[in-house]
Amino acid sequence: MAFRPLRRARQALPRAVCEQILHSGRTGVLALLGDGGWPYAVPLNYVYAGGRLYFHCARQGHKMDAVRGCEKASFCVVDRDAVVPQRYTTAYRSVIAFGTVRALEGEAMRAPLHALAQKYAPGQSEADHRGEIDRYWAEVCVLEFTVRHLCGKQGLELLPGG
Ligand SMILES: Cc1cc2nc3c(=O)[nH]c(=O)nc-3n(C[C@H](O)[C@H](O)[C@H](O)COP(=O)(O)OP(=O)(O)OC[C@H]3O[C@@H](n4cnc5c(N)ncnc54)[C@H](O)[C@@H]3O)c2cc1C
Repeated sequence: MAFRPLRRARQALPRAVCEQILHSGRTGVLALLGDGGWPYAVPLNYVYAGGRLYFHCARQGHKMDAVRGCEKASFCVVDRDAVVPQRYTTAYRSVIAFGTVRALEGEAMRAPLHALAQKYAPGQSEADHRGEIDRYWAEVCVLEFTVRHLCGKQGLELLPGG
């Protein structure tokens, strides 16, 4: 299946900008096919590394059941959302990734967990990161999101001359 392009092509963000937003963003919303076919959109911290997104989470729960039931997912990060009341609009930038998600196991979880630790606790030492990862090793799960399609859009206000 082909992924849709933006209808308003001039508002599309170049791939490099989309990737920069994924690198700098702190929180995104992972959309999954949840219980009974109800869409389940869950906010998560994440890290973007090697062209993939990684999440850490518990090994049980709604999100894990959804991933086990259907590997297809999308992930949205909002980079800017400055409301411009006098123009009844919002100056926004956002990215949506479509892809597939799988749970990593064993030692494959270690590098993404380190990348998450470096992103969210940059002031802590490598030894601290290792200690924290080891402390939660038995209960943590890492989800790997392989990006199949990446799309970014900015509001008209952010276009040159907009
Ligand atoms: C900014 C932010 C960052 C987060 N980062 C992480 C992260 O990196 N890793 C992580 O595991 N979790 C993170 N969370 C929590 C995450 O949103 C989920 O609550 C958590 O992952 C449990 O998901 P689950 O499907 O296993 O929950 P379950 O307890 O199995 O969900 C059961 C039901 O609870 C409700 N629910 C679950 N989560 C939420 C929620 N956040 N808000 C409202 N209702 C909810 C839904 O109705 C869901 O169907 C973050 C939340 C926020 C707001």
